[in-house]
Amino acid sequence: MKKIAVYPGSFDPITNGHIDIIERGLRMFDELITLVAYNPNKASLFSVQERMDLIREVSRDQIKGYERIRVDSFAGLLVDYAKQADANVILRGLRAVSDFEYEFQMALINRRLNRDVETVFLMTGYKWFYTSSNLIKEAASLGGAVRGLVPELVEKRLKEKYMKDGVK
Ligand code: ADP
Repeated sequence: MKKIAVYPGSFDPITNGHIDIIERGLRMFDELITLVAYNPNKASLFSVQERMDLIREVSRDQIKGYERIRVDSFAGLLVDYAKQADANVILRGLRAVSDFEYEFQMALINRRLNRDVETVFLMTGYKWFYTSSNLIKEAASLGGAVRGLVPELVEKRLKEKYMKDGVK
């Protein structure tokens, strides 16, 4: 049977830290669903469609085995998505201790909601310890260089966004 994992997140936008988790996940699972999990009431910089397009383009350009990546979006309960996608693993990345508390709660509630789905954590690659979409957005909005932390395409799109909005 195929081992399918769901890797959920906001991916607003995708960073090199996310890519690292995806690449490593592909070594463990036959198929990886990178899922833009969104809350329609929560503001984001990139639309769901833009985030999915960026993940697709970047994966195709730079991830070996990208044919085994599926990109999707979802606004409901994660375990419900996993079930209908035949995935029995939720993949998450862990950076600092600060990630731990929240991730711990999420993993426990998800297990309570569906015992057949396990959450698997991968430690961040040390290079990406401080890389978060939020920090990247903040730096980019102030005109800071984010090269090396996100794929070039993402860097370009960030520049366009903030130029258009007249921030920088
Ligand atoms: P962010 O926290 O960057 O806004 P997301 O909500 O998109 O990210 O995160 C999706 C998943 O990817 C989460 O499990 C998060 O911990 C993980 N992740 C995000 N950035 C990194 C990174 N630099 N290294 C490892 N995992 C990461």
